[in-house]
Amino acid sequence: MTVSTDMPIRFIKGVGERRSEQFARLGVNTAGDLLRFFPRGYEDWSAVMSIQEALYHEACCIKGTALSKPVEYRVRKGLTLYKFSVSDGSAIMKVTLFNNKYAAAKIRAGEEYLFFGQVGGDFTHREMSSPMIEPAGDGQRIRPIYRQTEGLNTRFIETTVARCLEMLDAELDNDPLPLSIRQDYELCTRRFALSNIHFPVDSKALAIARKRMVFEELFILQLGLLRLKSRSRSSNTAIITKDNTIDFLSLLPFSLTRAQSRTLSECIKDMQGKHPMNRLVQGDVGSGKTAVAAGTAFTVIKNGFQAALMAPTEILAEQHFKSLTTLLEKGGICVGLLTGSQPVAEKRKTLEALASGNIDLLIGTHAILSDGVEFNRLGLVVTDEQHRFGVAQRAKLAAKGSNPHLLVMSATPIPRTLALIIYGDLDISVLDELPPGRLPVKTYAVGSDKRERAFYYVKKHIDQGRQAYIVCPLVENGEESDLASATEYAEILSQGLFKGYSLGLLHGRVKPSEKDRVMSSFVKNEISILVSTTVIEVGVDVPNAVIMVIENAERFGLAQLHQLRGRIGRGRYKSTCILISDAQNEEAVRRLKVLCSTNDGFKIADEDLKLRGPGDFFGNRQHGLPDLKIADLLGGDMPLFKAAQDAARELLAVDPFLKQPQHHALAQEINCLFEQVGEQGLN
Ligand code: ADP
Ligand code: MG
Repeated sequence: MTVSTDMPIRFIKGVGERRSEQFARLGVNTAGDLLRFFPRGYEDWSAVMSIQEALYHEACCIKGTALSKPVEYRVRKGLTLYKFSVSDGSAIMKVTLFNNKYAAAKIRAGEEYLFFGQVGGDFTHREMSSPMIEPAGDGQRIRPIYRQTEGLNTRFIETTVARCLEMLDAELDNDPLPLSIRQDYELCTRRFALSNIHFPVDSKALAIARKRMVFEELFILQLGLLRLKSRSRSSNTAIITKDNTIDFLSLLPFSLTRAQSRTLSECIKDMQGKHPMNRLVQGDVGSGKTAVAAGTAFTVIKNGFQAALMAPTEILAEQHFKSLTTLLEKGGICVGLLTGSQPVAEKRKTLEALASGNIDLLIGTHAILSDGVEFNRLGLVVTDEQHRFGVAQRAKLAAKGSNPHLLVMSATPIPRTLALIIYGDLDISVLDELPPGRLPVKTYAVGSDKRERAFYYVKKHIDQGRQAYIVCPLVENGEESDLASATEYAEILSQGLFKGYSLGLLHGRVKPSEKDRVMSSFVKNEISILVSTTVIEVGVDVPNAVIMVIENAERFGLAQLHQLRGRIGRGRYKSTCILISDAQNEEAVRRLKVLCSTNDGFKIADEDLKLRGPGDFFGNRQHGLPDLKIADLLGGDMPLFKAAQDAARELLAVDPFLKQPQHHALAQEINCLFEQVGEQGLN
């Protein structure tokens, strides 16, 4: 039987339906996924310490003989201890197992075992609690530690990986890295790398294996990004000849900030050039990205093309639709809306108008990406809040017209070095200036004992005509209970302190028509308090809302809190954000402190990175890049990144479409990494 990396994981011995569901929770569905499920760390069972010399409270491996069978002590219901002593000739160590009948049953007097754990005790005796135990024979090596999930522990994963490596033995020689690249960059084979990344022979082999896997990952990523970038070398089919900025400015109720004008003219200049525009606009929340998008769209449309604006949520799409209709209609532009939840008839009308060219600017959610959406002469695609969209979607959108201009807007501030990598295929403009007259949002973190005071504060401002957001507590077990809790929470508020005030409720499950009603009432100030889950997170713009109360603030990440807070401080009134949290844990406290101390999104992003580490940063897909599973760009893999980049450039110079047979495996890997990008193929 030939076994391939696509093989579903349930075909591996010991993995049934249930286990494969558990593996799926870890993102592992196929044998190939499992081989790429790299250990998050290692335990060194190879360096055995003597009981006498072992350092207190440091994890180590002891090799010793059990002096007796474990003795069982029932301490109370639910707590049974198993105790036995171990000797390695240097000293005796007492071992205690808690409730682990299974492990205890395997211990035989007179047999030799490896014990991995921390040695405790004092001058008189040495002990180890709940060590991991293996028969002395085969366990004396560096062992992988995997990320676990309920029901699936690292040992089981280890066994499964070992079986998987055996089953895929023949496949291991199918090396995606061409020999010449392996030689030039001194990289080991795939076979060596995969077996040693999971089961290192020694620490040197591990380093060699890791280097190769990191290189491979970054190399494939680079190839994918370079392919996206090659798009920008194609010719400009939507050339802008007229600069209509002056007409656009006359429509605006304000004058642009310097940063906005600079960015807008950068966009226009791009679009006048030989190649289509590929530009990222990075600007903190409230920096006025929408106006830049509107100006760019206006110009494109006045030059005879259509434009599309894609937003990550329906609320945001609808809001853009309303505000841009108001703004651009006066300029003779017809704006259309397309979202997933529109009635079919309405959708059909929009699609017809779009195809016939009657709609100049289409605003929508990812529904815009669907196959039935045909433009008449699409010249520009704008994606708002890019961090919600992947590189893949970007590519798909770009494929809609004949290479339309691309404008990507993001409020997620990314440190410069990382931005260059992640958006390597884009030019970058930064909106580093807020519209004039903005007052920084004052932020306070308080315990729940101050909740009532916070609510009185809200009340005071509402009585003065302002509005407020209250972000309700998060419930972790799924949407269903989220809904219940949001509803219940709003109920409590409206019966209590806010009796007689008009409250609106918004959460992920509110019907679109209802959402629309609530949102537009809030915009019109018919609703004073918007109680909401995080659906208001991105983009929503109501300048009269000046207070935000966030319950369970510790449950949110820094970046998310910053985004939420960005909903206020958008007008001429002083705004206040109150974070309610009883969290004691150090990291949570620090996070809230950071938020209280600055409004600067870039500073917050840096802190976020420090607190969470780059692994997490790359792991949570904020930036829409494929997951990096092993490379750690902030932790020292930057030189390898550069090497991988060089290698990718060299390879594409020789074989731009990876058509040569020795590059097939590589092309496949790229398709795999950029899943949907692959739909367009690699050529
Ligand atoms: P974001 O960058 O977060 O998307 P928006 O585009 O929603 O920001 O703009 C935030 C608010 O600032 C909006 O109410 C918008 O009308 C206003 N605004 C944008 N640019 C200016 C400007 N140059 N002068 C005054 N107000 C502006
Ligand atoms: Mg916005």
